[in-house]
Amino acid sequence: MVPRSAYLHVPFCRHRCGYCNFAVVAGRLDLARRYLAAIERELSWLETPRPVETLYFGGGTPTQLLPADFARLAECVLKWHPLLPGAEWTVEANPADINAEYLRLLVQLGVTRLSLGSQSFSAHKLKLLERDHAPEQIAWVVAEAQSLGLPVSLDLIFATPGETLAEWQVDLTAALALGPQHISTYELTFEKGTNFWSRRLRGELVGADEELQRAMYELAIDTLNSAGFEHYEVSNYALPGHRSRHNETYWMGNEYLAAGPGAARYLNGVRETNHRSTTTYLKRMLAGESPVAERDELSPEGRARECLVFGLRRLDGVSRHAFQEHTSFSLDELAGPKLREFVQLGLLTDDGECIKLTREGLMICDALGPALL
Ligand code: SF4
Repeated sequence: MVPRSAYLHVPFCRHRCGYCNFAVVAGRLDLARRYLAAIERELSWLETPRPVETLYFGGGTPTQLLPADFARLAECVLKWHPLLPGAEWTVEANPADINAEYLRLLVQLGVTRLSLGSQSFSAHKLKLLERDHAPEQIAWVVAEAQSLGLPVSLDLIFATPGETLAEWQVDLTAALALGPQHISTYELTFEKGTNFWSRRLRGELVGADEELQRAMYELAIDTLNSAGFEHYEVSNYALPGHRSRHNETYWMGNEYLAAGPGAARYLNGVRETNHRSTTTYLKRMLAGESPVAERDELSPEGRARECLVFGLRRLDGVSRHAFQEHTSFSLDELAGPKLREFVQLGLLTDDGECIKLTREGLMICDALGPALL
């Protein structure tokens, strides 16, 4: 199958937030010119343009680039990944560093979706997360983007240290009040190597307990469902017609292209990940060397198992028929006993054609994956 999705990683951020372990360089916009040259070279290795149905600029913070540099980047990416009619093009942005002129530039270039790292509407929670924007900036960016006809997705984080269920409800209500088309909610995790990890080890930060995490997740599902948002993936909610088509390609086990530091691509059953360090990526690319740090060749069965695990994240579930078409494996021959066990435990439903997570299954979905791989 020809990949019809491409991801571009833009690693620049003003500073590194305490919980973040993404492939990011903080305060190093001086590297922008070398980054552009490296991306131009990496994409030129595609040799022929690869038209896409979905394009995603993630980071980092793509809008940290100066507008002229962003326009140059976009021109280069669109040369190698021209957008097919009706294509979706998402750009991630930080409410702190996007202005009206930048938003207009995005619209002029053809961006169709803005993914805003809003995280919270509480000044206290934003400060704790070491974010550099204020709640008012989120409201301004959403209103401005919507006035330009640009649909917006808001990211929200829950289960931060000391956060109560009532405070989380305030965040959800504030997000809905802005009228976004899409909302993603993520539970705060403490990742090794982050500032938050060290602070937790020192006893300075205490994460929410499991019961509260679960209550917060359920509150998000119920609040957003009641507001007309379809809960279509474990952490994602959309108004009708506004699912992230790009992210759906990942969950459906389809192939995709990628470029930039830390970017992962999936082609012909091989997953490759570029070097996470921006400086190493730049050094390698500009010396004409491969930026790939990891290469994982999956067997046909391995691919099918991944397809099952990713597919279960979608609330639409996994259809036996589509699974067989896509992977050439029978779902029941591949994982029948485990799936039946999960159905008996009330974690999955099975109507004979389609397998789906139950509410209980959603709560522990990350734990189900390893049993099916
Ligand atoms: S803005 Fe996003 S990508 Fe950048 S450091 Fe903060 S969490 Fe990480």
